[in-house]
Amino acid sequence: MAKKDSLTEELKKHFGFDTFKGNQKAIIENVLSGNDTFVLMPTGGGKSLCYQLPSLLMEGTAIVISPLIALMKNQVDAMRNFSEEDGVAHFINSSLNKTAIDQVKEDITSGRTKLLYVAPESLTKEENVDFLRQCNISFYAVDEAHCISEWGHDFRPEYRRIRPIINEIGKRPLIALTATATPKVQHDIQKNLGMIDATVFKSSFNRTNLYYEIRPKNANVDREIIKYIKSQEGKSGIIYCLSRKKVEEFTDILKANGINALAYHAGMDSQQRTENQDAFLMEKVDVIVATIAFGMGIDKPDVRYVIHYDIPKSLEGYYQETGRAGRDGGEGQCIAFYAYKDLQKLEKFMQGKPVAEQEIGKQLLLETAAYAETSVCRRKVLLHYFGEEYLEDNCACCDNCLNPKKQVEAKELLTAV
Ligand code: ADP
Ligand code: MG
Repeated sequence: MAKKDSLTEELKKHFGFDTFKGNQKAIIENVLSGNDTFVLMPTGGGKSLCYQLPSLLMEGTAIVISPLIALMKNQVDAMRNFSEEDGVAHFINSSLNKTAIDQVKEDITSGRTKLLYVAPESLTKEENVDFLRQCNISFYAVDEAHCISEWGHDFRPEYRRIRPIINEIGKRPLIALTATATPKVQHDIQKNLGMIDATVFKSSFNRTNLYYEIRPKNANVDREIIKYIKSQEGKSGIIYCLSRKKVEEFTDILKANGINALAYHAGMDSQQRTENQDAFLMEKVDVIVATIAFGMGIDKPDVRYVIHYDIPKSLEGYYQETGRAGRDGGEGQCIAFYAYKDLQKLEKFMQGKPVAEQEIGKQLLLETAAYAETSVCRRKVLLHYFGEEYLEDNCACCDNCLNPKKQVEAKELLTAV
């Protein structure tokens, strides 16, 4: 057997993996060399390791900016599992009391902590900025970096304050990571983080194991979905609906039809939400009916189908949501129901919003509509949206490739709805 290089040995030593996935190795080398790094990699590609491993190999503490408390906790627990030192990774957020925060600070100051996860809200707090200014920081990682962009599917205004705060704490190399790869979002992130010159690592966004289908949405939609779920017995699936009300209604309908389903949306109390999410992850329930609040960072490998009851607000969101199917590389069916009148409804919802936001919203909707109405390979259209050229004529894994239909027929079908 060939002798392993030292980086691969470190990978094995700290994480137990034998090889790097995709371009992880080149990314990590770039971080270690002190350059700014921009990583575009689909969900499940292994982005976390791109900052976790360098943090262990470099002097000082890496600051990881991440949007969700639940995500941070998962990652910190995972890091501690790999390490003998509990203080190796910490997070600071609003859930910690004073004693816990003091412990975190002590671990950082003493050099035990290699990774510190913070939410942008905590990073901008004056007391934290003051503390971090005195620390030895190896680099900054901005995870889920698309939250910076209004063109992304999950814009968070506080993400726009990251760069100024970093300047205050002290400039160090930066790595930004996202599974969102539209050229607009990419440019926005790089500009806002002041990393136009960063080395960019972009993986292919083609999810070869996912099957894409659009079905016309008509009065039978409930029955059609129930029939589909029943044909998938014992498999896990997610049903996305646009409104909380619809989530509740449709969960009840599924239950009334003997389907083991639970609801998930941001209007539920957080304990109930966590319970339902865990029931899905632990396979106590087959189906989760949810708004888009469900799913970011959720690593359930064997979701076999994702159904969109309503057409999503952007192709970006659609890609992220369908991307939760087949993370283990196995089968994943992605079926979305589309009616032109749903688009009109979505447009109406936007009317109260600021004009600039409306313009962006409309543009995103138009792109989604074009995808839904096309007779071209869905995979080709989707990848084109991410600035990637798909060269095959027939992907053999979308409705348009399996059942080619003429443009005219597709249009007729839609206007008939
Ligand atoms: P992302 O953030 O890109 O969605 P994660 O960082 O959550 O992806 O990683 C996805 C999964 O891949 C995790 O379960 C992780 O442990 C695994 N993983 C990452 N790197 C490797 C590797 N080199 N070899 C095997 N598994 C890996
Ligand atoms: Mg991630």
